[in-house]
Amino acid sequence: MAKKEENRLKILVVASECVPFVKTGGLADVVGALPISLKKLGYDVRVAIPKYKTINEEKFKIRDTGLRIDIDIALFNHTASIKESVFPGTDIPVYFIENKEFFDRDELYRTPQGEYWDNAERFMFFSRVIVEMLRLMDFKPDVININDWHTALIPVYLKTIYASNDFYKNVATVYSIHNIAYQGLFDKEKLSHANLPMDLFSIDKMEFYGGINYMKGGIVFSDIINTVSKRYRDEIMTSEFGYGLDGVLRTRANDVYGILNGIDYSIWNPKTDTLLPVNYNEDSLELKEQIKKKLLDDVGLKYTENIPLIGLISRLDDQKGLDFIAAIIDDMMRLNLQFILLGTGDEKYHNLFNLIKAKYPEKISVNIKFDNKLAHLIYAGSDIFLMPSRFEPCGLGQMIALKYGTIPLVRETGGLADTVLQYNFKTKQGNGFVFSGYDPYALLYTLKIAIDTYKNKTVWRKIQANGMKTDFSWDESAKEYVEIYRKAIEK
Ligand code: ADP
Repeated sequence: MAKKEENRLKILVVASECVPFVKTGGLADVVGALPISLKKLGYDVRVAIPKYKTINEEKFKIRDTGLRIDIDIALFNHTASIKESVFPGTDIPVYFIENKEFFDRDELYRTPQGEYWDNAERFMFFSRVIVEMLRLMDFKPDVININDWHTALIPVYLKTIYASNDFYKNVATVYSIHNIAYQGLFDKEKLSHANLPMDLFSIDKMEFYGGINYMKGGIVFSDIINTVSKRYRDEIMTSEFGYGLDGVLRTRANDVYGILNGIDYSIWNPKTDTLLPVNYNEDSLELKEQIKKKLLDDVGLKYTENIPLIGLISRLDDQKGLDFIAAIIDDMMRLNLQFILLGTGDEKYHNLFNLIKAKYPEKISVNIKFDNKLAHLIYAGSDIFLMPSRFEPCGLGQMIALKYGTIPLVRETGGLADTVLQYNFKTKQGNGFVFSGYDPYALLYTLKIAIDTYKNKTVWRKIQANGMKTDFSWDESAKEYVEIYRKAIEK
């Protein structure tokens, strides 16, 4: 019994977003699923996120703990109210850090025109509140799993101005990098706004081309660093993918891990998905056709038998290889296919895809919005799922598509390379179509092969079956997380 208690790690996961409360991308899926698997393994796990305007207090039964925390930022005092709830259907505590000035906004990080001007302050506030909150609640985690740049100041605070405080002794930190392209780059004056020592402004700490870099702080001061696939772990240590942080990562190469994200199959499963008009499995794949009809009808495209439907669901960002699609769109439209795009993000892509839609109204449906229900229909109703990303730390879309018998066509990078294997027509192994290189015509060529293959129903079924068998559930990944938590604690 004593041994069991000893092994019952206390884990705090801190992030800027979390399913089902608030989501803009894959980070939220991870933070919403990993804690549930950790809990199943018997650990005391809790989660903390900001309380954004869009988080529905009534729906999620969020209550005020009464705890207030005052933080000085620059010359001003800001108060956090600590609110609390649980993950629906569990007893996993979730803390919501509320401050109306910082978090009561329509978007999380930016408007289509650009980043919020005070993101440095918003997330230094959030990070510092988390550190203070632990002491005031007398919850001392064995490990804090921070995520991306928003929370990267937590280990910086712990190893500097809180270093001599006994309460924080032996609190280990694991830093999960979900996307190294977003680092939190700010003026060096922000250090004093954060009440952090100015000597952090040095090349071996947070200095980065004349400013400061939150993510670099996270890398330097965390005990263990983790990212979301093995391939991406290796890639970010190269100058091509490291966005300037490859050097500092290489100095910590022995502490850098790559654990593939899982998929929450209680949400993403064609057998049980409540957002679909019918459910199906490997043996009833013909039902996909009904969903395809409904999907095409919903978006105003005409259904014709045997025309493959290409789906794409993505943040509209340079990272996602959308310029490849723009480059080949006219060639693509000459092929026998239909195309549904769902996404939101950069205004330049909103305009571009609206122009393309106007040119090819019968072949393309462009949906510039965030729409979870439509996403489920596209995963289930499409034949091919397109992910031509320039880089992709892990990528969830391709893993979801595989489960729905929708064959992914991806660029060979990061987590896409780790999860999608080019189908081999001889050995009948493989679960999708893969191209490499930075060449839009490599994408076009692979798309032509995919469309040709679609005509052969036996082969198509085989690829679908291979994909649906692939298991990316969280349970295995969660065990790997526990291993790195223990490594961090040992340090
Ligand atoms: P990233 O985190 O880089 O945005 P991922 O592939 O890891 O990319 O995760 C994206 C997640 O967000 C997937 O679950 C995807 O289905 C979802 N998603 C992205 N854009 C939209 C949208 N416009 N509407 C609904 N879901 C979306």
